[in-house]
Amino acid sequence: MKFCSLYSGSSGNSLFVSNNNTKILIDAGLSGKRIQSALDIIAEDPREINGIMVTHEHSDHIHGVGVLSRRFNLPIYANQKTWDAMIKGLGKIAEENIKIFDFEKPFCIQDLQIKAFKTSHDAADSAGFVISDGKNRLGIATDSGIITPEMRSDLCGCDLVVLESNHDVSMLEAGAYPFYLKQRIKSDFGHLSNETAGDLAQALVEKGTRQLVLAHLSQENNYPLLAYQTTARILSEAGMVLDKDVKLCVAKRNSTSEIINL
Ligand SMILES: [Zn+2]
Ligand SMILES: [Zn+2]
Repeated sequence: MKFCSLYSGSSGNSLFVSNNNTKILIDAGLSGKRIQSALDIIAEDPREINGIMVTHEHSDHIHGVGVLSRRFNLPIYANQKTWDAMIKGLGKIAEENIKIFDFEKPFCIQDLQIKAFKTSHDAADSAGFVISDGKNRLGIATDSGIITPEMRSDLCGCDLVVLESNHDVSMLEAGAYPFYLKQRIKSDFGHLSNETAGDLAQALVEKGTRQLVLAHLSQENNYPLLAYQTTARILSEAGMVLDKDVKLCVAKRNSTSEIINL
C-alpha cells in the first residue's frame, strides 16, 4: 500500500491511499482545485480515484467532496447520519455515487478492505478507518476528543497509524481562543492533544505499529516540532528507539507529505 497526506490540519484534510489496483481519498476538505494540484504533485490522476471516504461532515473534511465527485464521477462513502448532515452542503450528487457504510459491516472499495470505527467528536456520527490490502493495515484516527475503546482496539496491530495530535494543552489554555472554544476542543467531543496522542502511540508501537504520522495539528495551539517532540519523548521514555522501532513524522498543513510505502 502507498500512503500520502495531501493536506492535514484544521484548515483542511485529505489523505491518499492506494495499492496496485485501487486508489482512494479519505476526506477532501479543501477546494477540488487544491486537491487536484496535490494529486498532481504525487503523480496521481484524479480520474483513477475509486472513491472518497468521509470521516465526518465538518467543512475541513468535505469542502471539495461534492465538486470532485461531480467532476470525476467519484463514489462517496459515508455513514447514514453523516450523509444526512452533509448532503445539502455537497450539492447535487449522482444517485450511484451515494455509498452508505455502517460500523458493523466492513466493506470493500475494489480490493481494499475497510473497517470503520467510531470516534468521539461533535459531529453527527464521526468515524475513523482501518484499511487493509490483506497484507498490511493502515489506521486513520483524527477528530476525536478521547480515544474510544473501538479506536484503540481497531488501531492495535496496524502497520501505519495516522493519529491526531491537535494541540498542546498549555498552549491552548494560554492562547487567544474564547473560553467556549477552549472547552470544546478539550472536551470528550473535541480533539486529541499531543500528550494523549503520545500515550496512544506508545501503546500502538508496543503492539507492532512501525510508522506513525501525527496529523490534524491546530494552527493556533500547536506547531509541528512540538507535536513531534511530545510523542518522541513519550516513546523514548518507554525505551523505544526512533527510526529503529518506529518511524515518526508530522503531516504537513499546506502541502503533500512524504509518500510512505508499506
Ligand atoms: Zn471535525
Ligand atoms: Zn477536522
